[in-house]
Amino acid sequence: MRLGRVESFVSTNLGHVAGVSEPYVTLPSVPYLAPPGSATAGSLYIDGRWREARNGRVREILNPADGSVLTIVSEGGRADTEDAIAAARRAFDSGEWRRVSEDERGRLLDRIADLLQRDREEIAVMESLDTGKTIEEGRIDVDDVTDVFRYYAGLAGKDAGRLVSAPEGVHSKVVYEPVGVCGMITPWNYPLLQLSWKMAPALAAGNTMVVKPSEITPVTTAKLVELTTEAGVPAGVVNLVTGSGPDAGAPLSEHPDVDLISFTGGLATGRRIMAAASETVKKIALELGGKNPNIIFPDVDLDTAVDYALAAAFFHSGQVCSAGARLIVHNDIHDAFTTELARRAEAIRVGRGQDQDVRCGPLVSAEHRAKVEAAVARGVEEGARIIAGGRRPDDPDLAQGYFYRPTVFVDCERSMDIVQDEVFGPVVTVERFETERQAIELGNDTDYGLSGGVWTNDTARGERVAAALRHGTIWINDFGPYFPGAEWGGYGRSGIGRELGPAGLDEYREAKHVYRNLAPEPQRWFG
Ligand code: NAD
Repeated sequence: MRLGRVESFVSTNLGHVAGVSEPYVTLPSVPYLAPPGSATAGSLYIDGRWREARNGRVREILNPADGSVLTIVSEGGRADTEDAIAAARRAFDSGEWRRVSEDERGRLLDRIADLLQRDREEIAVMESLDTGKTIEEGRIDVDDVTDVFRYYAGLAGKDAGRLVSAPEGVHSKVVYEPVGVCGMITPWNYPLLQLSWKMAPALAAGNTMVVKPSEITPVTTAKLVELTTEAGVPAGVVNLVTGSGPDAGAPLSEHPDVDLISFTGGLATGRRIMAAASETVKKIALELGGKNPNIIFPDVDLDTAVDYALAAAFFHSGQVCSAGARLIVHNDIHDAFTTELARRAEAIRVGRGQDQDVRCGPLVSAEHRAKVEAAVARGVEEGARIIAGGRRPDDPDLAQGYFYRPTVFVDCERSMDIVQDEVFGPVVTVERFETERQAIELGNDTDYGLSGGVWTNDTARGERVAAALRHGTIWINDFGPYFPGAEWGGYGRSGIGRELGPAGLDEYREAKHVYRNLAPEPQRWFG
């Protein structure tokens, strides 16, 4: 993730919303995204063909910046997901895709990466309109996704297995094979990015798949599926069902023909998927939520630490699993730090993600904003004090959208819900500490364990605290970046398994031991 790279936004050739003088962009015209008002839509991609849902149902996808209808997609149900599973099963069992050499699969991934870059601006705009994030964040997503495809293109074919030490007369090797049909269920905050962490390694390893994006933000998922086809991925290998979790998603975790479920989303859904997948003992990978500590020691440059703390907490309006939503600040600098944090939080420009200089776009839906507001109200009830935000923006132009101002809570205690629960919005809490030991205790006082940060100029202390924190990623004097080559995932209730890195490929491979007796002779085992 490349926080902070800024490019100017050019709206030419992307169209304008009728009646709006500002250069608000619209979705490109593509067959799988029907225009607002359409009674039919063909956003299911099954066995190499775009089609409607069997029951003909459709869903309106809203622009979170103003509540208008952005596009219409198919509302797939159980029967459609079963069709998609059957297509993926046939494509896997025919063996054709598995027989494509790993080098060739790597070349396909590279081609997908090229196509992502070709359509970079279009995809960034789609993601911005659909999720509310800024177009610049959309561009960053496309570049990160491109890097993920290139990384797994590079890994494909590089590890064909290994010889194992064996007694004389025996040849022993371990080879890797694809797991089979993979169900991929993704959340609304990073639709394209989260899918790429699953799709790229799954394709590299030779699996087939059924993708079920969030029902709120399916737009760029459909685009990526289209690009896989353009790149030459055969029919049936990648299938897409748009629709709700219970109707289109749940059949994936229940169906005996699905071999693996990879899920990114909330804890409650993760639990349900895990329970359902246990019936058929599927392989399972879960990337769940986080409540990520960001620990600030007093020896740091305050200006820099406040700056990074803001981005950590409020990037994508805090709708980030690894958001630095829980600041833990040393007593000596607490007051100066929080005063500056609040001042800058109040100065953050909230607005449409398509407008220049906006830092925080809308929250993804009215329902989600209501949840964030309820969490803030609960924080106040518990005795935490708001020193910035805590309200919707005053700007009447934003009244129809799902906006919420960056919010800073002080006087927070570790026992409070506002400190323990994932809010998944632009809300940061600040706790105090005195000793390194207290900081570590607070940093580990969570059921989650996705990521955390530590700020200090004392290298040894930074390493000590990083070693003591029980989270899947630790940043020292930074917050947020990751690399395709470094594993990502959670301790505790943040999930099971790892995405990215070599382990992210292993999730999609079975290791098979092949033992060959070079000169079998009768053993007279029966006496
Ligand atoms: P969610 O759990 O509500 O939904 C995620 C996906 O699951 C959606 O596609 C949804 O339709 C589907 N779903 C819902 N019920 C289902 C069921 N019974 N069976 C199968 N599928 C079902 O999550 P969300 O609100 O879309 O996303 C926010 C959550 O995602 C946050 O908790 C966030 O922390 C987490 N997240 C984690 C990571 C990570 O890397 N750990 C990354 C991004 C988001």
